[in-house]
Amino acid sequence: MHSDQTKERVGLDTVSDVGQPMHRLMTELYPICRSITGDGVRQTLKILGRILPLKIYEVPTGTQVFDWTVPKEWNIRDAYVKKLRGERVIDFQKSNLHVVSYSVPVNRRIPLDELQKHLFSLPNHPDWIPYRTSYYNEDWGFCLSERQRKALTDDIYEVCIESTLKDGNLTYAEYFLQGESEDEVLVSCHICHPSLCNDNLSGVSLSVQLAQHLGHQANRRYSYRFLFIPGTIGSITWLARNENRLNPIRHGLVVTCVGDAGRFTYKKSRRGDAEIDQAAQHVLKHCGHPYIVQEFSPYGYDERQFCSPGFNLPVGCLMRSPHGSFPEYHTSADNLEFVRPEDLQVSFNLYRELIDVLEGNRTYVNLNPKCEPQLGRRGLYGAIGADSHRKFDQMALLWVLNLSDNHHSLLDISIRAEMPFREIKWAAEALEKCGLLQETVLTD
Ligand code: ZN
Repeated sequence: MHSDQTKERVGLDTVSDVGQPMHRLMTELYPICRSITGDGVRQTLKILGRILPLKIYEVPTGTQVFDWTVPKEWNIRDAYVKKLRGERVIDFQKSNLHVVSYSVPVNRRIPLDELQKHLFSLPNHPDWIPYRTSYYNEDWGFCLSERQRKALTDDIYEVCIESTLKDGNLTYAEYFLQGESEDEVLVSCHICHPSLCNDNLSGVSLSVQLAQHLGHQANRRYSYRFLFIPGTIGSITWLARNENRLNPIRHGLVVTCVGDAGRFTYKKSRRGDAEIDQAAQHVLKHCGHPYIVQEFSPYGYDERQFCSPGFNLPVGCLMRSPHGSFPEYHTSADNLEFVRPEDLQVSFNLYRELIDVLEGNRTYVNLNPKCEPQLGRRGLYGAIGADSHRKFDQMALLWVLNLSDNHHSLLDISIRAEMPFREIKWAAEALEKCGLLQETVLTD
């Protein structure tokens, strides 16, 4: 830990390059046609399984999960709209976004005015293909650019969707990393979007990178459970199957939209004042990048399920631009150019900082609480940090001594002192080493 201090002090932008490998993984996953079930998910998990020893679960169609039922499994081989003389005018092979996800099979000739009822385009972005789904309503449809749509002038077209919608399984994966304690940090991302990057291959890629990073850490205080699940039905299914194993979850994060260049957004857990909420806001305050904090709302990603009143887990969502707030969202423009390695890197570094705070947030008691102890006698002046930081370190020592009274964690002290967590943590470690502090359990 101590050998890392100089590196950590430098801040968010200068850790080893993980932006490129994150982007490479997204590039490999990008062409796969994923949905909430089916072979696209399995193929995706197989690729992730080369990096992490995932445990893959298959939950049969029809399984009751709280108020929901695991749906039929959807797979697709090909789809197109063809002119009668043979030319494909909409082609699934060119972009998997062209087919409405969960489209039932169709193969027939159809007049243009009837076909129009099954078409989706974006008049305001004439070159982009929208992303549409029809999971719980058996229907079919095609998504296309407005330009393609305007070029449809024939009276009749041949429409074909070679899909299957039948009893099968819902597939998801877990990666569990045992720590010193049974207490868990839950990290969840969704794996159900086809060729879309910020939402949500960026979340998949960051989760994988974070899991690898944590796997290399020698001393992990917490155990970590990474979920790779289809959105909504995946988290509902996971919660239904793990209802009796939720007690150890101390903190949780939903990872999504972490590859764009927008400011950071932290959406608080339903509790609003959980340690994860405090820690995320603290890290953002000191990260040097623009950010906003949102209160919890029962919309968004899988935090909706984790934070439903029957669970009320301390799960927040840390992203860049939230869903729906950028025009590329759920369109073909959310592509590999929209997410850049350098932005993925900064997001990863922020997550890493946040995990460092959770890992390092302990509570101490000052063993010499009557007046200030004499720090000079104990060699604490200038003992930590560079000389230019001495004044701050001095303040960190004083804050830690003053607030270490059983009722303030190091994070509480950092927030109160308005100093980065690591400065406070180093001060506490130095004070503990010379016998002025002792670790204790936080009491309210
Ligand atoms: Zn989405």
